[in-house]
Amino acid sequence: MTESGVFDSSGVLGVVRHPWYVAVFILLLWAKDLNLTGITINLVLSAYLVIGTLLEERKLVLEFGDKYRRYQQQVSMFFPLKWLRSTLHHSNRSQAVTSPVSTRGASGTLREPTPDSPGVFGRSPMVARIATLLVFGLAVSAGVRSVHVPPAAFSAERAMAHVRQIARAAHPTGSAEHERVQAYLVAELRALGLEPRLQQTIGIASRFPVAGQVTNILARLPGTGTDGKAILMTAHYDSVAVGPGAADDAAGTAALLETLRALRAGSPLRNDLIIALLDGEEDGLLRAVAFVREHPWARDVGLALCLDAGGTGGRALLYETGERNASLVRAFGRTPNATGSSAMYSGYRRMPNDSDFSELRLAGITGLNIAISERGDRYHTPLDDPAHLDPRSLQHHGDAALGVAREFA
Ligand SMILES: [Zn+2]
Repeated sequence: MTESGVFDSSGVLGVVRHPWYVAVFILLLWAKDLNLTGITINLVLSAYLVIGTLLEERKLVLEFGDKYRRYQQQVSMFFPLKWLRSTLHHSNRSQAVTSPVSTRGASGTLREPTPDSPGVFGRSPMVARIATLLVFGLAVSAGVRSVHVPPAAFSAERAMAHVRQIARAAHPTGSAEHERVQAYLVAELRALGLEPRLQQTIGIASRFPVAGQVTNILARLPGTGTDGKAILMTAHYDSVAVGPGAADDAAGTAALLETLRALRAGSPLRNDLIIALLDGEEDGLLRAVAFVREHPWARDVGLALCLDAGGTGGRALLYETGERNASLVRAFGRTPNATGSSAMYSGYRRMPNDSDFSELRLAGITGLNIAISERGDRYHTPLDDPAHLDPRSLQHHGDAALGVAREFA
């Protein structure tokens, strides 16, 4: 509809009746910070849009009568279900669907389409189709931040570049791939202006009858404060032998690199931030033991955040915390899209699984344990590769890490 009162239903209007409202819905989807205020505003705006559209529909029916009713029957209001159905099943009839095209002249009367009323995307159903697919494709991708986001924000796309490097192949402790990944991470930390240190030691697991050589990669971002307290963030950079470990735990490792980059682009932190890219989780949690028991930095840690995975998709869930966690959980709740439940910990305690955080807990360090938890069927399989890692899960990991760092460090 235009201000001159011309009604045009060609082009994209043959796909959905209210493309501009659809565009606004997509913008609402993009505003993805789902805290209570965000959800309330989105709901109110959506209701306003739907009511507005329905009133407009009533006006159009009164104005155009049966012709508009026929258009309603053939073309969906917001989501191009009718169009998709016709495209998939009756491709030869698609012309009929995209061309109940009617144009109303300035006089307000409805007339059949003429060749000189090309509509928004012209007469080509193909152009309209491609445009619609683009718009809906963009809607589906909402939530993943691209490399073009401001430098101080976390971008899953930037982090995904690290995942692709780390999870090129399986890289269990002791393998040549593992050495390659280690060298990559050291180089990336140096590129971020840090001085990474390698902690090489024999790790002896607390809970499993395992011991082995581990090499933890540690780096410290100094804060402006003077009390020496630090926040520790960990992920593990080894993978199982059967798969490349894109989610478990290249995602956590990459999220920490991207978090460090974003933090350095923003205002300096008060407390120190220690990044520990640990080794040997998949061999009985050797890495965390070695750090906690032997490294002098461990004594400065006031709070820990561990990123890991038990699947390749879905939200990054807070499923375990330490003692004295009320203020911790409240602060975590303020991070974007924070998701967690005390019920998950009850379930997790009944499982045979463990993570780095188990060892930190034993050492009396409180903190937050976060994991990508859906699509567990791909966990510890060759399908835990970069192609199957949901970038939205990576974004969620990063939102948590960056949010917690900004809250506490
Ligand atoms: Zn893991």
